[in-house]
Parts: sequence; C-alpha cells; structure tokens
Amino acid sequence: MRAPTPTASPEPRDLPLDPATLPDELRIYFADHCSGGVFFNPWQTTAKPGAADLLRWRASSNPWAAAKRHKPEAEVLGDAMQARDALPTSGRVTWLGHASTLVQIDDLTILIDPIFGKIGGLLPRAAAAPMSVAELPHVDAVLISHGHYDHLDASSLRALSKRFGPDLLFATPLGLSRSLPSRCKRRVELDWWQSIELNGASIHLVPAQHWHKRTFLDTNRALWGGWLVRGSGNAPRSVYHSGDTGYFGGFAAIRHVFADIDLAVLPIGAWEPRWFMKTQHMNPDDTVRALQDLGAGSLLAMHWGTFDLTDEPLDEGPRALQQALAQHGVTAERAHVLAHGGSVALRATTASTGL
Ligand code: ZN
Ligand code: ZN
Repeated sequence: MRAPTPTASPEPRDLPLDPATLPDELRIYFADHCSGGVFFNPWQTTAKPGAADLLRWRASSNPWAAAKRHKPEAEVLGDAMQARDALPTSGRVTWLGHASTLVQIDDLTILIDPIFGKIGGLLPRAAAAPMSVAELPHVDAVLISHGHYDHLDASSLRALSKRFGPDLLFATPLGLSRSLPSRCKRRVELDWWQSIELNGASIHLVPAQHWHKRTFLDTNRALWGGWLVRGSGNAPRSVYHSGDTGYFGGFAAIRHVFADIDLAVLPIGAWEPRWFMKTQHMNPDDTVRALQDLGAGSLLAMHWGTFDLTDEPLDEGPRALQQALAQHGVTAERAHVLAHGGSVALRATTASTGL
C-alpha cells in the first residue's frame, strides 16, 4: 500500500516591508546573511568561540562545582493537560521542559523544539517530560528553531509524525529540513522575516544570534532563528519563542515589526562560563533586557532545569532571574517561571500553575 500523500505545504511569504523605511540602526538585522551556502550573523563583530575554546572550557575547573553537588528536585506537573485545558482556548502556552513548548492560538496548535526523551538518546533528563506524545492534543505544526540536538530531536519528530500522520507540518529555518527524519514529509523552510499562514494564524521566522552544527562538516550550513506566532482576528494574540540566542539588537528589530507581542518565551539557562557562552546564550540579566527591548507583555522562562548543559546549577536560572527583574525594575508578575508542564494563558497576568 502506498503511503498517503501529504497536503501541500504553505508557501513562505516575504515581509511587506520597505528596508528604506527602517531606522538606520535596525537595517543590519534585515541584511544578507548567507555567503557561499554558509550562514552568518551580519551584525556580529566578535568571533564565536571555536574548538580550542571548547577544549579550554572543558579543561578548566567549574567555580559552581560545589553548588552543583546539591541536585535540585525538579517540579513536574502530574496533570499538565488538565491544567492547560482549564485555560481559554483563544491562547495558552505550555512549557514541556527545556525549549519544548506547546502553543495554542485560536484554531492553531503547534509544538516548538519538542524533545520528549534524552538529548541525542544519550544526555539524561533531570526532569521527566510532563506529557508523552500520546497524551498531546491534536498538533497542526512543529517548528524547529535550529539544528542543535537539544532543539531538533529526531526521535521525538519521528514519534510526532507517527502519531499525527502525513499532514503534520514541519517548519524549519533555511537548509535545516534535510536534518528532519525522512518520514516527516510535509515540510517548509523559511528565511528570516518570512512567514506562512496556517489555520488563519501566521507563523514568522525572525533572526537570532546563534549558529548551526549537527555533523563534523555542516557548521552554519543551515540557518537558525526564533519563531513568532500571531493568531487571527482584529486583535490577534502573539507569542514569540527565541530559540537559542545571545543578547543582540535584533530584539528591537523584532519589536519594530511586531509591536504587540503578548508573551516572550525566553531562555534562562545554559549561560556559564560567560567568556564562552556570551555570544550564543543569554544569562538572566540579558533575558530581562531582551524582554524590555521586545516590549512583550510577559516572559515565560525556558531552557533551564531539564538538561545539565553548562557550568551553572540547574536551578540557578530562576534565582538569577528574580535578581535581574528587581535590578531592572520589572515586576516579578511579568515573569512566569513554571513547573515542567505548567501553562499560561495569553494576556493573563498570573500563571495558572506556577512554582
Ligand atoms: Zn543551540
Ligand atoms: Zn539549546
């Protein structure tokens, strides 16, 4: 029996924006970012750390080593779906651990960077996935921010394709769809500032300050980015998910185009040591500055508490975030730090299930 043919993928559209109307300082975020098949961050003047720096980091002692001997108890909701279902269907966002996020806006349900097991099948989780693929509601599309193994997890994508069938859409930045499992047939690649329409909502890829690598030979041969999802109607709700990114002026560019972000899903983990991580991952102080640059209504913290990737303890993110919020005069109510599986309603002032 032949496999059913998937519905055609939506066509990416360019942003209807005249670069001549942009403020000078934002123009660089709309500039060319590929040369000879290799992508780059056109605004980045400092070099990203290389292999020698990685060895230097691995050989150095970790100043957080003593603090990390204490293993925090990860909070995982036992009734994640029930908590989500109690929120309005017009807009709700569920944190599934690490960068894995379930978003429902109006008639569209999407997963961003889903990972339900170990990274690459090897690096263990400090917190169980709060729901399995079988427990998910119907999902229309899966968005991948970039090709690193903690964001593009082939076994999770295979399981999602099996559960939801050939019409499940997989959207990636340019050059990344070749890293999808072969059974993920309905796929679309977007460049920065391009968008697709799905179920009346629009899905936009926006710049991030990061990089790509999955194999020895493919450094920066695929693009990276963040995703912005806007609902339908006159006053659409919108969610922005940054993927992995260093702090950069692109947040102001994103605000210039999308002045109405209700919720920004931003990382608060994997930032130490700074000399190595600064250009590619934000620390919580950067995250609060990003929230302000974006002008987003509130923040949902991600990329912490699930996988031990860097020097700082797994539960340092929420502590450092509270300090950064106070230092920048941002009220704590604007930041949602949830248990794994916790949900927020879009435009809600308080989380339904916070720690
Ligand atoms: Zn990454
Ligand atoms: Zn990551």
